[in-house]
Amino acid sequence: MKNQQRTISRVVEYSGIGLFTGEEVRLCFKPSSVDTGINFVRTDIEGHPKIPASVETVSDSERQISLKKKGVGIKSIEHLMAALAGLGIDNIEIEINGNEVPAGDGSSLIFTQLLKGTGIVPLEKPKKTFYLKKELRVSNGDASIIALPYNKGLFLSYILDFNGSFLNRQCFEIEMTENNFSTQIASARTWGLSSVVEEFKKKGLGKGVTDDNSLILHEDGTITKPLSMTPANLRFPNECVRHKILDIIGDLYLTNLELNARIVATKSGHYLNACMAKKIIEISKKQINN
Ligand SMILES: [Zn+2]
Repeated sequence: MKNQQRTISRVVEYSGIGLFTGEEVRLCFKPSSVDTGINFVRTDIEGHPKIPASVETVSDSERQISLKKKGVGIKSIEHLMAALAGLGIDNIEIEINGNEVPAGDGSSLIFTQLLKGTGIVPLEKPKKTFYLKKELRVSNGDASIIALPYNKGLFLSYILDFNGSFLNRQCFEIEMTENNFSTQIASARTWGLSSVVEEFKKKGLGKGVTDDNSLILHEDGTITKPLSMTPANLRFPNECVRHKILDIIGDLYLTNLELNARIVATKSGHYLNACMAKKIIEISKKQINN
């Protein structure tokens, strides 16, 4: 039953504040039937419009992932998407009464624990599985992602490098399994560079940032809580690079595929991750047509 599509076994709810908007929203996760995919439902809008989480609905990939369909959007879906990928959930309906997914503790931990706690159940059809057959590459300046053929699942490597400032070079690699995701990746929190945080404040963004949901990296190499500026207690010495892998896992799940590929990413962010997801979808369609 390992490769069957999955959903959750019962309804579960969660409330919290969005990192960008600072607004409190309520999420209601509902089991969903086979081949229906991951869908957000805006219950605060008349008619309860549905926004599928897929490469086709991505409307913004700068610093977070936003989806939009017929003018209705949803922001900051990536850490929830990573939890769904980590738990192998293919079909789920996520009702939300606002436009941004709550930040939780800045990682995928709350979503992973919450959804796992409902019990994950197999459905009657196999997962949509994709085997990469030739190398794919996307790049932007000195950031890049290379995807290589690999037939044993998803294996991810990330190189985080600020050329001497902020952080020493961090490299991490991991085989994507449910256990590895839950124990090694899910709790790695989001972070920002102090320069970017200042820019955000000026623009009135990041209203939901608290000392409990993000980390700030300073040019001198220190890592602090964002508001009190007191030293942060890291969950892993290399929590920052682990979070970058968490982001890639969430963003590549926009393909809605169980991927068999080796991903080597250098300094990539959501924009490049989404570009790679798009390339994988294009190639997967060609492979199906051939
Ligand atoms: Zn992130």
